[in-house]
Amino acid sequence: MELSLALREPLGEHDVFRVGAMNADEPFAPNLAGREAIFDQALTNGLAAIVAHEWAGEEADAKGRMLSARALLRLLEGKTSDGKLSVSADGVLVIPDPHEQRSVPQSATTFFEWAELPPLDTRIDVRVLDDALDASQPARHARGVGGLKRRHIEALLALDDHESLRVMSEQHEDRAWQSAREEDGHSLARAVAFLQLIGDEEAAERAERVENPNDYHPKHNPDGHDLELCPVCGFETFCVRALDTFGRVGIGQCLVCTYVRSLRTADDEGFSEHLAWLGDKD
Ligand SMILES: [Zn+2]
Repeated sequence: MELSLALREPLGEHDVFRVGAMNADEPFAPNLAGREAIFDQALTNGLAAIVAHEWAGEEADAKGRMLSARALLRLLEGKTSDGKLSVSADGVLVIPDPHEQRSVPQSATTFFEWAELPPLDTRIDVRVLDDALDASQPARHARGVGGLKRRHIEALLALDDHESLRVMSEQHEDRAWQSAREEDGHSLARAVAFLQLIGDEEAAERAERVENPNDYHPKHNPDGHDLELCPVCGFETFCVRALDTFGRVGIGQCLVCTYVRSLRTADDEGFSEHLAWLGDKD
């Protein structure tokens, strides 16, 4: 986890272009104390979880001790005729995603350009991981002078796509969630400040004049929505662009106070409403 954060933190959440520009041979987090030990541990645990999930029991030796990362890599290499695992053209071991297709909620398709997500195949780059083990054990291996590189970490993080792991993506999900909440808080604060600036009278006048740019029309705008009550200013001026996953809460912006409800916030609120509704049914 620490490795994952150290790898991704400097890239910045939205700075997608830097990822490609990052040199795979760049030394990885040279100032992170004990990074070799963390890497070894993470790789051993990750490989063991994958083996335990796919070939239960084989992750340990006859005495019940967990195999080393190196031994787990050799074991996986021996599984290529098993059918659960294949070798890609570039020599990487691939465990196919058991779930065929992942869809994003239909209500969200206006925000994303795709409706289907790519499969989460697990890619185990044995050559790079072996090289990483050499690099992370400089005391015992003469050629381990270069230390850990970014490509080693990328190969480690790729293991996380396996269904037994997915820890880091969940952690990232949590962080994205957290930032959505902060964003919502900021939007709310901005809206309140804006209301204070224009005053009650002006706000009421604006509410009177508001026209819905996303008005429902069976022919011209079948995906349109009526204006909803804004939770911040209380006028019926919240312009809904789409609904959350449960079809309960609108994603959009208030035309008077400027409050923005994002997809994540709407999903969060929609989920709570859905749970409450399920509770009421009983
Ligand atoms: Zn409002």
